[in-house]
Amino acid sequence: MSAAPSVELVDLSRSFGGVAALDGLDLTVEPGTLMCLLGPSGCGKTTALRIIAGLEHSDRGEVRVAGQDIARVPANKRDMGMVFQSYSLFPNLDALDNVAFGLRMRGWNAAKRRTRAGELLELVGLSAHAAKYTHQMSGGQQQRVALARALAVEPRVLLLDEPLSALDAVVRVQLREEIRSLQTRLGITTVFVTHDQEEALSVADQVAVMRAGRLEQCAAPAEVYADPATPFVAEFIGTMNRLPGTLSADGGTVEVAGRRLKVREGSRPGGEVAVLIRPEAVSFEPSEEGAATVRQAGFRGPITRITAVLEDGTEVLSDVPSAAATELVPGRRADVMLDEAPVMVVER
Ligand code: ATP
Repeated sequence: MSAAPSVELVDLSRSFGGVAALDGLDLTVEPGTLMCLLGPSGCGKTTALRIIAGLEHSDRGEVRVAGQDIARVPANKRDMGMVFQSYSLFPNLDALDNVAFGLRMRGWNAAKRRTRAGELLELVGLSAHAAKYTHQMSGGQQQRVALARALAVEPRVLLLDEPLSALDAVVRVQLREEIRSLQTRLGITTVFVTHDQEEALSVADQVAVMRAGRLEQCAAPAEVYADPATPFVAEFIGTMNRLPGTLSADGGTVEVAGRRLKVREGSRPGGEVAVLIRPEAVSFEPSEEGAATVRQAGFRGPITRITAVLEDGTEVLSDVPSAAATELVPGRRADVMLDEAPVMVVER
């Protein structure tokens, strides 16, 4: 396979009936990497993917593959493999012929097609199922066939549109790991659309968090989680406590749950705010005079998620190592301890 190309979206815009689905999206997928487009329903993820594939046109902006604008290249010449949420296999063909289908379109002879399709089925772990029809396969198996079919033609770019969302939880996790391992092994430039943040964080090299047709942040998963660029990203990714606080006049510190913490960016006027703090940055210390009352202790194996309430009714979540959570039973009062790290504040 020739070297993997980059995929760049430059000022990509598209409206439907006056509503902007994409509103100046700029994004670069580096060669051979996996980019997740992540965001709430309707933020434009699928529209972006369809424009890359050539199934949809843009009103403005460019899609560049290896630096070349591909506006004039029709969808079937773009050399891209696509897998959709619905398995979209041909029900009248068996697994092998489904995989071989695209090769026939490209003029491969029957013997070569069968050999290549067999290799691809082996790659996705389905050699034993080559003669099965769609109704004889599970959802996960059908999606593996769809993946093999997309990869059979050695596309330069792989596009995945919510490929796992029709599958049950266990298969979804298993298949996403398989997709990631295949993608890394083949070194294929991939764009993966999902609204599932855990999925995005676990498979992507880079996560592009979108909102209303725009990019909020594009960064490695750990960075998006630990260093969100905007309040929207902070609250969209992972779980976030929103605690009432009072910001100092210079915006540099905030008083929250009886502590004073540094603020990450000080551009907001002093006063009442909500302070965003991750559950793992909160701990509880049992105390008769504590400001919080434990309401629930949810055991999750190594950690226990404690839900407590402050006097004003605010809920506070804390992820505590289970060994340290034995005293934090419902009804127990506790002091709220917060990590010293600077926090993000937003409008209350
Ligand atoms: P989801 O996660 O729900 O699939 P998404 O982020 O993929 O959402 P898109 O499907 O790209 O979002 O849609 C973005 C916006 O554009 C939505 O408001 C949608 O209703 C609108 N839209 C998309 N395609 C069309 C179309 N063909 N005709 C009219 N409106 C459309």
